[in-house]
Amino acid sequence: MIVGHGLAGATLSQFLLKIGQPVLVVDGNLPHSASGVAAGLVNPFLGPKLNCPPQLSSCLEANLNFHRFIELNCGKSFYEELTLRRIFISAEQRNRWRSKSMMDENSSYMLGEESEKKLESMDLFAPFGAGLTKAFRLLIPKFISYSKQILKKRKSWIDGSFDESEWKNAEKVVFCEGHRVMQNPFFNFLPFSPAQGEILRLKGPTLDPVSNGTWFCPDDDKFGITGSTWKHDNMDCGPTESGRRTILQNLSFLKIDQYEVCGHSSGVRSSTKDRSPIMGIHPKNSRYFLFNGFGSRGATTIAYYAEQMTNFVLRGVKLPKEVCLNRFDD
Ligand SMILES: Cc1cc2nc3c(=O)[nH]c(=O)nc-3n(C[C@H](O)[C@H](O)[C@H](O)COP(=O)(O)OP(=O)(O)OC[C@H]3O[C@@H](n4cnc5c(N)ncnc54)[C@H](O)[C@@H]3O)c2cc1C
Repeated sequence: MIVGHGLAGATLSQFLLKIGQPVLVVDGNLPHSASGVAAGLVNPFLGPKLNCPPQLSSCLEANLNFHRFIELNCGKSFYEELTLRRIFISAEQRNRWRSKSMMDENSSYMLGEESEKKLESMDLFAPFGAGLTKAFRLLIPKFISYSKQILKKRKSWIDGSFDESEWKNAEKVVFCEGHRVMQNPFFNFLPFSPAQGEILRLKGPTLDPVSNGTWFCPDDDKFGITGSTWKHDNMDCGPTESGRRTILQNLSFLKIDQYEVCGHSSGVRSSTKDRSPIMGIHPKNSRYFLFNGFGSRGATTIAYYAEQMTNFVLRGVKLPKEVCLNRFDD
């Protein structure tokens, strides 16, 4: 049984079905889920220091394999390759990009540079230029709705919240509740650190995906989405005026007066204090498992960890120490 059908629960359930393991999924369609608003960008170089997430190449390979399988089954692709224009915010960041691009392991993701002049001709303000990155986008809401449709067809779907007393006979229960883990009496002792984030939908000239830390991604015709923000308090507040202001201010590379805000949403990431996912089995209750803590990188990491989780739950294959929940044992 899987509790929660955000990106984590949907990916894990499709992994289990792929290997012939029946599942039952329950989801309460609870507000503030991260997957409901996430852009699904898979960007190899993160933050001002352009750091690569751990296990990047294994994660990208797992994503390609998993989504190739999904595509073969349904004839649709939810995982797209794209070129992300990384606007440099300083000469120092541009130098960092240049030295990283000399490294063999980065060469297939760093596709070249563009000058201020070239960017200006595209109406982008970028005094330090930009670097082109091979990136991906996972269309999270579409993938989740596909997964739900498959589960419903198999009569493996239940609408509602998990109630322990109703599921005493479930042999194995994997909790994929996102930030709602904080209300789960079995796992809320773990060091989670949820972070609320906001997204705007903009109407105006379309652009290829571009980011200076705050990203803009084309959505439908004449629309784009942009974000995001980080906040560790007042998690259930929904979209805020200060979130909207912050995003618009950070889009300093765009001619923002050409755009109109026509949507504003928010969700809560289930981040962890040490920034690694938390997976494993409850220390005292051997029926209860956890698959959570994917922070702001779920689209990059979840398929990779879903395979490990599947092997752990079904075959007892050990999880790597850095993600296993027993890393917090004294
Ligand atoms: C603004 C924003 C932008 C983001 N952008 C990106 C991005 O570009 N790239 C990227 O990789 N990641 C991004 N993320 C992070 C990404 O969204 C998450 O890593 C991922 O979606 C987490 O999925 P999840 O399934 O763990 O949690 P969630 O998406 O929160 O899903 C949890 C699900 O569990 C259900 N649930 C919870 N408790 C119960 C219960 N007791 N009973 C029944 N159902 C329950 C909820 O209804 C929900 O459907 C972003 C996040 C935010 C907030």
